[in-house]
Amino acid sequence: MPLATHAGLPAFDLTGRLALITGSGRGIGYAIARGYALAGARVVLNGRDATRVAASAEALRGELLSHDPRRSPLEVQFSVFDVTDTAAAEEACQTLMAAHGCPDVLVNNAGIQIRGSLTEMPTEDWKRVIDVHLTGAFTVGRALARRMLPRGSGKIINICSVQSHLVRPTTAPYAAAKSGLVGLTRAMCAEWAPSGLQVNGLAPGYLDTELNASLVADPEFSGWITSRTPARRWGRVEDVVGPAIWLASSASDFVNGQVIYVDGGMTAVI
Ligand code: NAP
Repeated sequence: MPLATHAGLPAFDLTGRLALITGSGRGIGYAIARGYALAGARVVLNGRDATRVAASAEALRGELLSHDPRRSPLEVQFSVFDVTDTAAAEEACQTLMAAHGCPDVLVNNAGIQIRGSLTEMPTEDWKRVIDVHLTGAFTVGRALARRMLPRGSGKIINICSVQSHLVRPTTAPYAAAKSGLVGLTRAMCAEWAPSGLQVNGLAPGYLDTELNASLVADPEFSGWITSRTPARRWGRVEDVVGPAIWLASSASDFVNGQVIYVDGGMTAVI
């Protein structure tokens, strides 16, 4: 590889890469997909709500073409499936790979939150949260890794959380799932790094997205977040995009099995 590729910005260029981002019709997933597309990648959006995902893909195509008329609208695709429906997710991944080839980058981002005390938590709610974050990442990761491994390359980014490391009352299934995702990230690294894959976790702090709408609207909680975060603000989805591009690019080729916290310093300071 020429020195210039490692010495400068081209190492962050995603031109020619194909990326599947789960749960990307809105929020962090959409921001990452948009960042990848603007950095040169072809992207595949995903979610369960077909109307929303199609509309988000259309909006991204419009932005991409206005940014660079030489880009093709075909560089933004979408695939509607529920990551907890193993058969449907596997079939969708096969269809995607038959049509577009094996993705170079997978971002396991789909997520939900169900809050409640441990003693009152219905088992179904517990299982639902674990299923989306943890089993979903396993299912989609496995489907793509089966094609990435013989090819000898691939980047998998599991979206973790500050709750992979710190816990609050009422978020037990979410914290358990996000902590488990750190273990899954390391396990994927252990098994797949020898075949040329990089698997890392990206752990945002508290961001102002739909998932946190009720918390953002609560002045007491919002005040606590800004005082508890050394950067003294809620995070924004844009804060996650640069690190996500780095982890998808050749600039991070020797980074493996790590969790990168993007949290304004929250996990570093008591
Ligand atoms: P969001 O705005 O609620 O978006 C969640 C996305 O996941 C939606 O696009 C949703 O689309 C999709 N989704 C949910 N269940 C799915 C399923 N079973 N199959 C496929 N897609 C599914 O949430 P966000 O704040 O952007 O969060 C994205 C990720 O970042 C999550 O993993 C979350 O835990 C993590 N995170 C968020 C924060 C934060 O502060 N917001 C902090 C740390 C980590 P459909 O409803 O159309 O399926």
